[in-house]
Amino acid sequence: MQYLPVFLDLKTGPVLLIGAGELVRAKLRVLLSAGAGIRWFATDGDFDLGGLRDEHGQVERADGDPLRADLTGVIAVLCAGAGDIGVAMSARARSIGLPVNVMDDLAHSSFIFPAIVDRGDVVVAIGTGGSSPVVRERIEALLPARIGELAGFIGDFRKTINPLIAEMPLRRRFWERIVDGPIGALVLAGRKQEAEAALHGIADPTAFAGADHAGRSEGHVTLVGAGPGDPDLLTIKALRALQDADVVYYDELVTPEILDRIRRDASRVPVGRRVGKPGIGQDAVNKLLIDAAREGKRAVRLKGGDCFVFGRGGEEVDALRKAGVSYTIVPGITAGLGAAAQFEVPLTFRSKALRITFLTAHKERDAEAVDWSALTDTKMTVVVYMGMTAAPAVRAGLLGAGRSAQTPVGVFAKVTRPDAQAAVGTLDQLPDLVAKIDGGPAILIIGDVVAHSAPWRQQNLSGVIASE
Ligand code: SAH
Repeated sequence: MQYLPVFLDLKTGPVLLIGAGELVRAKLRVLLSAGAGIRWFATDGDFDLGGLRDEHGQVERADGDPLRADLTGVIAVLCAGAGDIGVAMSARARSIGLPVNVMDDLAHSSFIFPAIVDRGDVVVAIGTGGSSPVVRERIEALLPARIGELAGFIGDFRKTINPLIAEMPLRRRFWERIVDGPIGALVLAGRKQEAEAALHGIADPTAFAGADHAGRSEGHVTLVGAGPGDPDLLTIKALRALQDADVVYYDELVTPEILDRIRRDASRVPVGRRVGKPGIGQDAVNKLLIDAAREGKRAVRLKGGDCFVFGRGGEEVDALRKAGVSYTIVPGITAGLGAAAQFEVPLTFRSKALRITFLTAHKERDAEAVDWSALTDTKMTVVVYMGMTAAPAVRAGLLGAGRSAQTPVGVFAKVTRPDAQAAVGTLDQLPDLVAKIDGGPAILIIGDVVAHSAPWRQQNLSGVIASE
């Protein structure tokens, strides 16, 4: 984030506006709509408002040299179409710490104007570094037309409803249920009176907010699969859970871009292994989840990929069930599927690849425990999680059981992230392929289908399955 978006109250003092032509009138329009007091120096002497209305007498037409203007009480300086004066004015404003914007001149500006979506009570400021018109339109399209009315509706009734609900989290949930439910839909449909009637019809706001019989908020745990790294691969349900959470317990595999999607006020607790340090242990995690739910919190357990694929979600669910804590599970895209999609590895292929096995070989010991003889079928694709260190054992196991040394294999690292990497070759070369990767997490895919992958094609390796 290069700039901090803030909302400035411009009614408290004059803004100095310097410039000429359409550019300065565009700024006048936005300042007038924000209720600003404006001291305007028209550098071409033309004080015509160009059709803008100044009903509240906000504009003060100033004469003289703006470079000598009294800056006492001025809250910001804006130059639009002001030519060289902009640069000189910028130096003057900066010397006394006044925020200054020189239009289309980043070097001489200490603040910039965002693109603005104005929906009454809801104002969205969008900073995009130049691409703003298109991005602003996209963001605008995401917002319901009457979102400002919805915000106004909540504002109108907050004072009456909130004192009726003792607990803070329950208040939030009350309004969430209003916004997400039929009453919010009525407001967004322009049927405000009906919405008001329905709101007045709620006999017990605390119960409406989902409190238990004792009037306390009910805790809940959501196990959420975060996918392999790309935040756009979160499901809509995952995103909702992150936006709803009071506390999020996350693993080391969860990327910062995904953590950014968590509700800002939620606490974030890392519970995974850190570099060189062990995690807090499964029993401790189970206890944290249970305790959070018992305190009435909405806890999210956020894991890389999917919770039920080498994610220990099963143990957590067992513990939650035993503790009588309510929970839901949101599936995520497991790393194997992320790798397959990104690097174009069809895990099954018509009559040629009919089975998939997901296995883990984290330690040599795991690799020794695998029954490799069950994995020799050439029509089986084998996906190995946590397989980097065990690569030599995987190779030895499969070759020993009789799988061909020429079987195509791929090592796919940091899949779906910007720094994803792939190395493909034959089973024989597996440890060398692993050595080409700059670090995990990485997944191995073994089987003829790897010959269909994009990196294989790029390297012109000979395919086992002829492309059809
Ligand atoms: N629950 C996770 C797997 C956790 S086990 C899932 O469903 O994906 C951890 C292993 O997952 C890593 O050692 C690696 O083999 C794999 N993995 C997780 N994220 C990955 C990624 N972005 N790219 C490649 N492999 C990944």
